[in-house]
Amino acid sequence: MAFDIDVLRVKKGDNVDLSSVDTRGTPEWDGDDKDEGKAALPALNERLETLQELLYAQGTERLLVVIQAMDAGGKDGTVRHVFEGVNPTGVRVASFKRPTEAELAHDYLWRVHSQVPGDGEITIFNRSHYEDVLVVRVAELVPEDRWERRFDHIVNFEEMLVDEGTTIIKIFLHISKDEQKERLQERLDRPEKNWKFEEGDLGPRAQWDEYQKAFEDVLERTSTDDAPWYIVPADRKWYRNIAVSEIVIQTLERLDMSFPPPEEGLDKIVIPD
Ligand code: ATP
Ligand code: MG
Repeated sequence: MAFDIDVLRVKKGDNVDLSSVDTRGTPEWDGDDKDEGKAALPALNERLETLQELLYAQGTERLLVVIQAMDAGGKDGTVRHVFEGVNPTGVRVASFKRPTEAELAHDYLWRVHSQVPGDGEITIFNRSHYEDVLVVRVAELVPEDRWERRFDHIVNFEEMLVDEGTTIIKIFLHISKDEQKERLQERLDRPEKNWKFEEGDLGPRAQWDEYQKAFEDVLERTSTDDAPWYIVPADRKWYRNIAVSEIVIQTLERLDMSFPPPEEGLDKIVIPD
């Protein structure tokens, strides 16, 4: 049975209530268990590898994948697993950290626009301009009348990118507060994960509900037909990997790409000894 990614998509006008979305859910997955879920990934990786090669060879389409989540939501792991095996030429990850002084001296889209994909490229945004209506809002880094207007800017900015030839998909990895606790604890307990632990992450955790509300506003107000959000239940990593793979693969398939026509006379060419 086909995995219908539309089930995860936020439609225009939807009321988003994240507390009613089961973070351990596995919508559209009809396999039996975790082992089967894990076993399904390599075939998806291969399909994505083929599609990315086609995108690169054709050289006219651009794909932007935006990933947002609470801390320890699995952004890095998603990128690692979903894009495993894909030729790194033509795929780039842009990670958006706390803005530098130079970035803060410009409008918030300045650093973002320079990272969007060019022809034949896939760019993954690990965090994005959405931080400017999430952390910036909850941590009150700018006054409300300023971040409030950013929803419109963002919708318009993305519409411009789409009009000019970029395909956009936006993914919210939805984890529960309990799952975050487990993952943060693991960063404390496992020496090889210690480097990922930041005491600063406990701040947003303490403001969990405010962040969920901010995410709900983002999902409701910026999911458009052209640049849709998908809510991916992400407590189960194997399901998250399958769902995100399906979203990326099916979006690329819809582009109906083909290899560029070969140069004329290829059939007459003889490679000299
Ligand atoms: P991990 O989940 O593996 O820890 P990460 O995405 O959290 O990875 P970090 O370097 O730990 O990466 O954190 C980036 C930090 O930068 C986050 O706390 C995020 O909220 C913050 N940040 C990103 N964009 C902005 C912004 N525009 N304004 C303020 N803070 C921002
Ligand atoms: Mg972090």
